[in-house]
Amino acid sequence: MQKITLLGATGSVGLQTLEVIRQQPHEFQLYAMAFGTNTEIAIPIIEEFKPKYIAVKDKETKDYLQTHLSSQPNILSGDEGMSEISTLENVDIVVNAVLGSVGLEPTLHAIRAQKKIAFANKETLVTAGHLVMKEAEKYGVELLPVDSEHAAIHQCLKGERLDEVKRIIITASGGSFRDKTRDELREVTVNQALKHPNWSMGAKITIDSATMMNKGLEVIEAHWLFHMPYEQLDVILHKESIIHSMVEFKDHSLMAQLGTTDMKGPIQYALTYPNRLDISQEKGLNLVDIGKLHFDEMSFERFPCLKMAYDAGRAGGTMPTVLNAANEEAVQQFLNNKISFLAIEDFIQKAMDEHTMVSKPDLTTIVEVDQETRRRVKSYVN
Ligand code: NDP
Ligand code: MG
Repeated sequence: MQKITLLGATGSVGLQTLEVIRQQPHEFQLYAMAFGTNTEIAIPIIEEFKPKYIAVKDKETKDYLQTHLSSQPNILSGDEGMSEISTLENVDIVVNAVLGSVGLEPTLHAIRAQKKIAFANKETLVTAGHLVMKEAEKYGVELLPVDSEHAAIHQCLKGERLDEVKRIIITASGGSFRDKTRDELREVTVNQALKHPNWSMGAKITIDSATMMNKGLEVIEAHWLFHMPYEQLDVILHKESIIHSMVEFKDHSLMAQLGTTDMKGPIQYALTYPNRLDISQEKGLNLVDIGKLHFDEMSFERFPCLKMAYDAGRAGGTMPTVLNAANEEAVQQFLNNKISFLAIEDFIQKAMDEHTMVSKPDLTTIVEVDQETRRRVKSYVN
């Protein structure tokens, strides 16, 4: 029985992780969980899974839980709580499905405690990939990707030599506005942006998919996870999202991983790696029903956020931190109806242009640059 700490239990990936745990009751136990403030979703989870530890964002949420739970688990509050439950001695696997760069410190703690880590929280690798990977190497910990593209690449690379890889090809659905021209993007609303054609996901990543920043973050994530230079990371449009990503080798052999648009597959694989478990409760792909797959060239002109991500990744240092923090803040402002859809990319570009890069930043510098960038983007709104 593998004991799990789940960070981000009330979110989209978190809830699907709980579904995997429910489907495999003899394999996994929810030992600890973290969420922000959403007690309405959290309380039924706590009553059902009875985790021993819970970490929440603030003291009010902790107080509320203490008076509304029938059981008495240990409840921690503040950012340190997530780090604490990621290092508990009894825990085998930490699933990091929290949203945003708040996932950075718990990731570093989980690595130092040599936990197996199932990793969805891409913002953490974007903001501080060099620090995370250095610690992972030092402590001999592998980050097992949950993001479907990276789970696909990880499977295509199983048993392969990295020096025989010609390139990694990450597929992109195109998001909610893939059929719109740039001109048509001027008028789009939050509700329209939240309608992803293929995947059901949290609000922030759904907006990131519409701007193509999600693919940009995934390129940087792949750079770190698979030690791949940006020249060998390509993105292709594939509107069905059936091929989750591909690897091309030196001899032009192309390996692809195909699957349904359901995160439970990649989540379960990260939890059971290097083994596979039966998932007979779920339907697999029906290739005859699908019939055809389509591919199109990616365009940096149509999707400037993707170019910004390559630029930030190649620049290195604190530039990806700025890219990520500016994006997190701008997307939040868009979701709050404070700025237009196209202002998201303008604000990120402006934040990057105004930033004086620090090469090889330490954790303190990363945190400072992250906070400074969020302040800066807020000032653009006002
Ligand atoms: P959601 O917005 O649905 O969920 C985010 C989770 O993080 C919630 O449980 C939320 O708690 C928690 N959280 C946010 N801020 C804090 C905080 N300060 N302290 C503690 N907990 C916090 O996000 P998703 O599940 O969509 O995405 C999570 C991560 O996985 C992201 O990095 C995303 O890019 C990645 N990912 C998501 C996919 C998907 O299918 N959704 C696919 C691939 C990757 P609360 O509910 O209380 O706010
Ligand atoms: Mg993805």
